[in-house]
Amino acid sequence: MDLLNQLLEIDPNYMIIGLIAFFFSLEQLVKSPFSYKKRISHLFQNVLFQLLLVGLNIFFVTFQVFSIEWLNSQQIGLLYLVELPIWATLLLAVAMYDITAYWIHRGTHQIPLLWRFHRVHHSDTSMDSSTVFRFHPLELILVFGMGNILTAAIFGTDVFSMALYYFILYLFFFIEHANLKYPKWLNGTFGLIFVMPDHHRVHHQQEQFYTDSNYADIFILWDRIFGTFKMMPLEKMKFGLVEFKEAKKQTFLYLIKSPFINIKRISSKEKE
Ligand SMILES: [Zn+2]
Ligand SMILES: [Zn+2]
Repeated sequence: MDLLNQLLEIDPNYMIIGLIAFFFSLEQLVKSPFSYKKRISHLFQNVLFQLLLVGLNIFFVTFQVFSIEWLNSQQIGLLYLVELPIWATLLLAVAMYDITAYWIHRGTHQIPLLWRFHRVHHSDTSMDSSTVFRFHPLELILVFGMGNILTAAIFGTDVFSMALYYFILYLFFFIEHANLKYPKWLNGTFGLIFVMPDHHRVHHQQEQFYTDSNYADIFILWDRIFGTFKMMPLEKMKFGLVEFKEAKKQTFLYLIKSPFINIKRISSKEKE
């Protein structure tokens, strides 16, 4: 528990800098399963998203923490109804933040207004560790941020477990998006419960049949339970969205404006 406390005291921004430095370096050193060019300029465009998020978060994280602490002070939520050992409460809380994110993520694919923001993450045609940063900040703050407050309101989760959730989430995010070769046996073992890179790669496919699957971030269990789990062979994979293929549509400035532009979804089959 002490170790956990110490880990969570690390500034999350430092942790993210450490993770991107580690995974991006590894991607340059070992043979990547997917080929792509212009790695540095791709990294630069994606880092701009993170910088904007860090700036905006100064205000928003305070709001989130304040809201969750207020809910806790009123003892609102299901976890207040049962007495559990601390480790069980933490495990359940992380799972609850993750299941809310699963349903919200599913919503961002089904609701056209939300998809306008979420497609920024899917627009990346050459996925690597820096794709972790490519989210429209308004989506993370307004949609997923509200999800955390909602989780606290329903389940009674606290700020400490949210910090733990984010710690695990970012670890999973980097592993899932990195352009690295992972052993196949992961899918049949840890992959029965947790999200593996091959699962999330299916989620980044151009073809909508596959884009609308594997929504989970940490526990792939949610997709297996709610019927959205899909798999496909690595050799057939094509990342990104056809409507965002042009080089100018892969830039930070275009992508930040893109939710406010009418862009028709193009099927990958139509184009070929
Ligand atoms: Zn998605
Ligand atoms: Zn992703």
